[in-house]
Amino acid sequence: MSGSWGCPHERNNLCTKVRNLPCDPGMKACVLYGRFVFADESKNEPLRRKRAADASDGSGE
Ligand code: SF4
Repeated sequence: MSGSWGCPHERNNLCTKVRNLPCDPGMKACVLYGRFVFADESKNEPLRRKRAADASDGSGE
């Protein structure tokens, strides 16, 4: 996978942020991790937790 969206951490398809591993948008420690919903469900756990926490914050008023 490439950094086709223009990630500043991607160099030659390697992630300079995550130990020069092949760029895999949304992988753990990626800047996108927990921010977007991905087709790979294993990448969605942080976002799911955040939404669950947000839903329990004041929505029951
Ligand atoms: S894995 Fe994430 S942080 Fe790393 S280069 Fe790819 S998009 Fe950027």
